[in-house]
Order: sequence, then C-alpha cells, then structure tokens
Amino acid sequence: MNKISIDNIDTLHDIIDHINIGITVLDGYNHVVFWNQFMVKHSGISASDLVGRNIFDIFTYLPRQWLELKLKSVRLIKNYSFVSWTQKPYLFRFHHNRMISGENIEYMHQDCTFIPVHNSDTGETCVCIAIHDMTDVVASQQKIMEINDINKTLEHMTNHDALTAIYNREYVEKQIEYEFSKAKRYGSLFSLILFDIDKFKIVNDSFGHLAGDEVLKNTSLTIKSQLRSSDVFGRYGGEEFLMLLPETNLENTAFLAQRIRQSIERMTTVYNNTEIKITISLGVVQFRPDIKNYLQIVHEADIALYHSKQNGRNAVTQYKITGCNLLC
Ligand code: GH3
Ligand code: MG
Ligand code: MG
Repeated sequence: MNKISIDNIDTLHDIIDHINIGITVLDGYNHVVFWNQFMVKHSGISASDLVGRNIFDIFTYLPRQWLELKLKSVRLIKNYSFVSWTQKPYLFRFHHNRMISGENIEYMHQDCTFIPVHNSDTGETCVCIAIHDMTDVVASQQKIMEINDINKTLEHMTNHDALTAIYNREYVEKQIEYEFSKAKRYGSLFSLILFDIDKFKIVNDSFGHLAGDEVLKNTSLTIKSQLRSSDVFGRYGGEEFLMLLPETNLENTAFLAQRIRQSIERMTTVYNNTEIKITISLGVVQFRPDIKNYLQIVHEADIALYHSKQNGRNAVTQYKITGCNLLC
C-alpha cells in the first residue's frame, strides 16, 4: 500500500476545518489566527470576521482572568493543558443540539485542550484550543441520576407507610424473618414490642378520621425519636405498631416499652384547636431458640399485648412460656 505524504494532502486544512471538534488558534496577543467551521457553526461568527481580532473583544463573557493565565502558562511551559467540563462546564457559550434529553442543559458542555503551537514564520508560540462537545455525556449522566432518584423513591414507597412515613408491615416482617434466621444460626439476640392504641375508635368517632390520622402520625414521631438507628419501627396494621430491637434482651426491651408507654401518655395531639390524648397497650417478647418461626414470635407478642388490653389497657406485658407477666 502506498504511503501518502501528509504534504500531498491539499485537504488537510479542510479536514481540520470540518472535524467535529472546535479548533481555534490564538497568537501571543490572543488575536484569532484560526477559527474552524465547528466554531463558525456554533458561534454564528465567520472566520473572516474574527481572524486578527482579540478573542476577548468578541466574546466578552469569557472568563478573562482565568483564560489569560491559562494561555500564558501554556505558552510559557510549552505543554498541553486539559480542562474537563466537570471542572468548568464550558468555555464558549454555544447552544447544543439536544432538544429533548438535553432540556436541562443550557449550553454545550465542553472539554477543552490547550495545545502550544510553534509559528515558524514569526517564531512565537500560539495556543490551539480544541473544544470537544460533551453534552451527550452530561445528558446521559443526568438521565442515570434521574433513574437512580426514581429507583430510590420507588424503594422508599415499597418499604414505608404512606401516612406515618415509618416502615410498613411487609418491611418489618422481612426484617424480623432475617433477625430470626440470624438468631437461629448464630445464637444472636433480639426482641419485639407490639402495641395498639387504646379505644382508637372513640378518637375517630369523637374528633373525626383526619384527627385520628394526625394522632397516628404524632405517635410515630414521638416513638421514632426514642429509638436507636438499628431498631426497626413500623406500622403493622391500622393502629397497631411493631418494633424490632436487635441485640436487646427482654429486661431492656420491657424498660424501653415502659418509657414509650409513658411518653405516649404524656403526648398531646392538637387538631383543629382540640387537644387529643391517647394511651397504648404493649406486648414484649424475646427470641428463644425453641420458637419455630418468625410468625410465632409475633404471635407471642400479640398474646402479651392482648393481656395488657385484658388488664385495663395503658400497660406493658412480657410474654413468658410460664405465662404472661403484666408489668404495670
Ligand atoms: P382497643 O383498645 O381494644 O384496641 O380498641 P380500639 O377502638 O382501638 O380497637 P378497634 O380494633 O376496635 O378499632 C381500631 C380502629 O382504628 C378502627 C379503625 O377505624 C381505626 N383505624 C385503623 N386504621 C386507621 C387509619 O389509618 N386512620 C384512622 N383515623 N383510623 C384508623
Ligand atoms: Mg386499638
Ligand atoms: Mg387494633
């Protein structure tokens, strides 16, 4: 194959002129020496109108101090310099062609390469600035970030209760199942607190369903602030809530349950200038190796909760194999 000498290609200038990269060359006074078609197309200014003129007189928005320093150092050190769009989104304010997916991107994002160029006629060092259109990359990254945000929102919706914003039943059950298998396999410890609002029907009947909703939200907030980040707190049913406490024994769980009961007793929910007071009944249980599956431990917490209801409400009951133990 014949090797073609670059000198034989008359169209070398044409190639640089029509390449899909912006090319401009500035002399030692920052006057434009060369301005290719890419730059013409995106700036709307022809090469003949620019060549010989100072770049800062034409594009007054350019970051003059920064760019002068950059050009000066490239000329002096005679070495390449690269500026990514992540550092500086763009140098020239060019519009881009991404009409739909680039709608959040105001100007064409650019990677800029500064190349020292020796002018053998004058002996001076010029600087060639190559502008790469990075808008497609930016648009794809934005799309990925949007999809990630949507996925996070969907995940949140899947695991959380819409009214109270705490975890929902499905999530809490999954976590209990996980803790249960961990406890079975590795002998770790965990406890549960199940509680139910006392006479909640009366709250709804007296103040309305929306007032009842406000009470549910306030109850969740009041309790959430008392838990550790490792505790899992969720809405188990209408006005029934469940707490999973990893690495916590029955004694400490009962102590926490008492504190929670008292804090709800003190809590006041204000709705339409009316003060609403409630109490809760709680059941606590600790994992034991003889428990068959995670549903059994939830069932035992339910038995203890029922015991609290039977014994006057606003109470905590510990589940024990020997029989339920009412604490107050
Ligand atoms: P007890 O002390 O025996 O638990 O009595 P209670 O009235 O709380 O129990 P019951 O199960 O009879 O009633 C629960 C009430 O909770 C009935 C239902 O309308 C109400 N409820 C369930 N979910 C919601 C909700 O999302 N918002 C409101 N406002 N009320 C709810
Ligand atoms: Mg109730
Ligand atoms: Mg109930």
